[in-house]
Amino acid sequence: MLDSLDGLSVGDSLGQVFPIVRRSTVAELRAGSVPPAPWGWTDDTEMACSVVAELLERGGIEQDRLALAFANRFDAGRDYGWWAQQTMNKVRRGVHWRKAAGAVYNGEGSCGNGGAMRVAPLGAFYADKPDRVVAEAVRSAQVTHLHPEGVAGAVAVALAAAHAGRARIGGTRPVPAEFITAVLERLEDGETAQLIRRARELVGAPAERAAEELGTGIRVLSQDTVPFTMWVAATYLDDYPTAITTCIAAGGDSDTTSAIVGGIVAAYTGGGAGTGVPESWIASREALPAWFEQIRETRSGRKPGSGLFRRWFSGRPGGGDPPRPTREPW
Ligand SMILES: [Mg+2]
Repeated sequence: MLDSLDGLSVGDSLGQVFPIVRRSTVAELRAGSVPPAPWGWTDDTEMACSVVAELLERGGIEQDRLALAFANRFDAGRDYGWWAQQTMNKVRRGVHWRKAAGAVYNGEGSCGNGGAMRVAPLGAFYADKPDRVVAEAVRSAQVTHLHPEGVAGAVAVALAAAHAGRARIGGTRPVPAEFITAVLERLEDGETAQLIRRARELVGAPAERAAEELGTGIRVLSQDTVPFTMWVAATYLDDYPTAITTCIAAGGDSDTTSAIVGGIVAAYTGGGAGTGVPESWIASREALPAWFEQIRETRSGRKPGSGLFRRWFSGRPGGGDPPRPTREPW
């Protein structure tokens, strides 16, 4: 789960910073040249930290607690969408989350991509409990996104991260179409699911075509964000840097697509040189919130940036050896 959070937050921050800084091109990024640090993270990371903190502290999602955690830690400078800001402000004023989230889009509830952007580490947490992934992902999404498509996007991402974590534990590399099938098998039908089926048909196509047909989050909806992330994660499951670069090259809501893909792929690759989350990228990412580091240290005994600890738990004593499938202890 913590590897997935690293992948999510690094994807979020690089996906946010790269289009703004523009000091390097996508070709340079592909060659390993990245923007100058620090890379500031956005709402994806802030909310994902709250999800992970709940799992570390409680072992599951309690919706009233999660809604208050989101609202109390809400930082308006983190690029939240307008509806999310309204919902957070209402919950902070004492309105119950179900009423606040239910008021979005004239009572339909939000089908934005916010439930999906923060959920990958939850999927990794339940990698060995596939039956629980869906229920917990639904709970985590509903506190802000009550529309069925907003929930479906979160469920798809959690299922993908869980499948990635299971593959890591089992030492297998699922082929892209099988990976997407594993998500679809447990996903309720709807527009998001239909487009994920289309993503499966596009396996092997150029990334530009997949992005054009599936969307890259320009409408910031679950439906036009999550299907492309399934395509990228399935295609580059064993190559974190290429997966993130593909999201950034595709454009659109690239901090969100990179956060989603980064969270899924890192659940498989872990961190480290070569195909994992590069340690230099983690070092370039703005530090995670102080309140989160405190909870992480208390609950996991893992200090931020502890390379030896990280390598030990990822089964890579030298840091440069090929990835060896292993499980995280939480
Ligand atoms: Mg964002």
